[in-house]
Amino acid sequence: RISYYNGQYMNHEEMSIKSGDRAFYFGDGVYEVIRIYDGNFFTFDEHVDRLLQSAEEILIRDVNRAEVVEILHEIKDRNVILNGALYIQVSRGIAPRDHGFPHLTKPVIYASIREAKRPLSLMNSGVEAVTAEDYRWLKCHVKSLNLLANVMEKQHAVEQGAKETILHRDGVVTEGSSTNIFMVKNEVLFTHPANNLILNGITRRVVLGLAEEYDIAVREEGFTVSDMSEADEVFYTSTTQEIIPVVKVDGRSVGDGKPGRVTQQLQEYFNKKITLLNSV
Ligand code: PMP
Repeated sequence: RISYYNGQYMNHEEMSIKSGDRAFYFGDGVYEVIRIYDGNFFTFDEHVDRLLQSAEEILIRDVNRAEVVEILHEIKDRNVILNGALYIQVSRGIAPRDHGFPHLTKPVIYASIREAKRPLSLMNSGVEAVTAEDYRWLKCHVKSLNLLANVMEKQHAVEQGAKETILHRDGVVTEGSSTNIFMVKNEVLFTHPANNLILNGITRRVVLGLAEEYDIAVREEGFTVSDMSEADEVFYTSTTQEIIPVVKVDGRSVGDGKPGRVTQQLQEYFNKKITLLNSV
């Protein structure tokens, strides 16, 4: 497996990371995960755009788009992984440990690829989720390397035998620890608006596009944990998980306790979209 770090392509197992990398001390950087289906990138430009926007938001300004695009293609082409996930991160640079931004350093890019199968069985059966307070910072729209709160929130689910923690601020559902959350109530699809309190997921955007295309009513507005307990359907989305039905929240069944009809339709439209991608 060939990965990339700080200007060099190398064998993943032989790679060593510079100890002064600010990603290491501070989580001072941003990242993306991009899906590859049958050897083709899915929503490539959207991910590259978001990476550059995240970098800009934390004042890492000298990321070269052409360089990023080249690294992503090189990593895909130098590895034989047909269905995978490509991870790329950009840190502020390599320098002695000091909170203030270093002078004269350049952003440091790391990229690697792994095989990633579609989670077909979870997509069919649905999963259980739990809820917890969202205590993250107020720049959740930045895809920051600093994932400590997300890690803690995910573990909260793992320890209860659930797959995801649905986060809320003062009762209003924001997103999952690593996913976006949707609910369906009376044939209307609800999800939190894309502001500073959530990451505007690429899969979230694809789902909203599909809803528009297939005439499903959408309201991008906050709903509460209590609204969600009365929902007909709940699901979450992410690049690697796609669309996963949530059939239980905090031990209580959602709707009739099975993956919902609108959720299944969206899964079908999503399938169609990735099949089309690979037939051109
Ligand atoms: N929210 C958070 C906090 C995430 O970490 C992720 C996945 N990285 C998402 C939402 C989903 O985003 P995407 O669909 O772009 O993978």
